[in-house]
Amino acid sequence: MKTLLVKNAEVLVTMDAGRREIARGGLYIEDNRIVAVGTGDTLPASADEVLDLTGHVVIPGLVNTHHHMYQSLTRAIPAAQDGELFNWLTNLYPVWANLTPEMIRVSTKTAMAELLLSGCTTSSDHLYIYPNGCKLDDSIEAAAEIGMRFHASRGSMSVGQSQGGLPPDRVVEREGDILKDTQRLIETYHDEGRYAMLRVVVAPCSPFSVSRDLMRESATMARHYGVSLHTHLAENVNDIAYSREKFGMTPAEYAQDLGWVGHDVWHAHCVQLDDAGIALFAKTGTGVAHCPCSNMRLASGIAPIRRMRDAGVPVGLGVDGSASNDAASMINEARQALLLQRVGFGPSAMTARDALEIATVGGARVLGRDDIGVLAAGMAADFVAFDTRGVGMAGGLHDPVAALVFCNPGQAAYSVVNGRVVVREGRLTTLDLPSLVTRHNALARQLAEASR
Ligand SMILES: [Zn+2]
Repeated sequence: MKTLLVKNAEVLVTMDAGRREIARGGLYIEDNRIVAVGTGDTLPASADEVLDLTGHVVIPGLVNTHHHMYQSLTRAIPAAQDGELFNWLTNLYPVWANLTPEMIRVSTKTAMAELLLSGCTTSSDHLYIYPNGCKLDDSIEAAAEIGMRFHASRGSMSVGQSQGGLPPDRVVEREGDILKDTQRLIETYHDEGRYAMLRVVVAPCSPFSVSRDLMRESATMARHYGVSLHTHLAENVNDIAYSREKFGMTPAEYAQDLGWVGHDVWHAHCVQLDDAGIALFAKTGTGVAHCPCSNMRLASGIAPIRRMRDAGVPVGLGVDGSASNDAASMINEARQALLLQRVGFGPSAMTARDALEIATVGGARVLGRDDIGVLAAGMAADFVAFDTRGVGMAGGLHDPVAALVFCNPGQAAYSVVNGRVVVREGRLTTLDLPSLVTRHNALARQLAEASR
């Protein structure tokens, strides 16, 4: 057994039921789980490894509930800089059609490196395009290599343009193949145990790229295996119009009709979720992944997060893919969530602590986990530390916890995942970042050139 002692944190934010914040706080960890939380005098005096986090704020590792990591190869693509969702997708599908397995592996590691350096220890990823032999296994391999806790979502698209869908026919799959591969992935990789580092999620891309049958069969399969369901829903007004025209229902009504509500389901965006939809999600425990930067980038609107939370809807935070949020920083996403909610609904619509709650324990709930997002005995040893002594937080130490969100704390000094120090003194310990970025940039160039 390996032990790790964390001590002297300026403040340790537990996110436990009492939302305790402990000055001069620390943690005692055995292998991959937290054994004790408290001030130094209440913890063992020594351990195999001791981290003195004087001057740092320690929080639970942030939980990212929505991403498309392959999109890190297509940031700031000129043709897709200024469109709304449907136009943006139409410009990018032909580029993504040239993805290769190496591109999936390298971009996933790059996206995870960026997340880990921004204080995130658990991420989901929604991979829904599988050209040229790409597989979800490529993402799974990347997560294991870098050491991130991972919810790998088997996305899919089956309704191409010739069938009235949005994606070109050459990037869609046959529904039988999708279901077979999804079953293989669950049986091969899904770990339902406590502290699982890898879970598989069933995740058709969106109501405008798969059929009603595939949505229904996906729900049946997910419930058979006890895995979660994830998709995009009610992202913007065109999305609503498509739903009304094709299905004669709002997106929330369509989700209910398909069996896509419940504690085991979370939907990305829900910017245009109406009051009846909010009530339905609250009643059924259906989760929402809020992605403020992406919603602003694509001018989708302002998701009514305050109303959702007041109604009891589980809400987590997501950076979304890097083609619609070209800066995938989880701590910055919490800041943007706070700012955007205030633009829409006034200055009391979200506090700094609300934003941190959504980004930690909120995300954990959305992913269906009760072993992460909180620093308490018996929880997974996932925590991050930000150094408060840099210029970005200078003058903000009246309330260092709020300052994490209001100010710019920079990169995480430490990210610890399942008891393993994956970021130490601001550097990744599990791979060589400069060579990864060099390869990522070469592949990004190759991908853009292939689609000219
Ligand atoms: Zn998305």
